[in-house]
Amino acid sequence: MIEFSAPEEDAPRLRALGAKPCAGGKWKVARYADYPKFAEWIKGRIFSSETYIAEVGEKCPYCGADVRLVAVALGRYREDLLPAVYGKGEISLLFGLDGLPEDVARTLREEFGIKKRYFAPYGYSLPANGCHACGRIFNDEYLFGGEEAPFGLYSAAERLRLYSLPRGRDRAFGGRVCLSFKRKRLPAPRKLKNSKKARFSRKR
Ligand SMILES: [Zn+2]
Repeated sequence: MIEFSAPEEDAPRLRALGAKPCAGGKWKVARYADYPKFAEWIKGRIFSSETYIAEVGEKCPYCGADVRLVAVALGRYREDLLPAVYGKGEISLLFGLDGLPEDVARTLREEFGIKKRYFAPYGYSLPANGCHACGRIFNDEYLFGGEEAPFGLYSAAERLRLYSLPRGRDRAFGGRVCLSFKRKRLPAPRKLKNSKKARFSRKR
């Protein structure tokens, strides 16, 4: 099952296609096989009901302060509305912290201090990892580029801490998968401290 938002005027079309209204003015669709009919409204191309926040402790390369870096990780997932299931026995990291479902973005903001940071060379702001002490931004190249990077295959495996988000419904992610770890090599996921906050949809 997946939930998504849609403009009010689309309600008749959504009903006709078989979506059901639910709390907070959202819509839900029960079967994965029916998701393609709603591609216009469902934002994202990777689907998974098994979401984690992956965290690694690191020294800021600019000022040496202790920082914690986060990435979003998925268990089994499907891509581009195709039937194949990927990531069996693995935990897969997504590039970047943009294009995330609302509840995941909120958890990163409220529980991990991830805020929008201004990328001067590009002229726009995106949610991103940064240093609390010197304010520098850590871009994806630094975070994921190569095996020795903070989230690289070798450096991260032993140090990665996983926090699990509530499961059950599919979430749609806009990013792309960059790296997969064998589950056996990772410690067991922990629950978020304020997991009650990390609900799928915000009640109004
Ligand atoms: Zn710093």
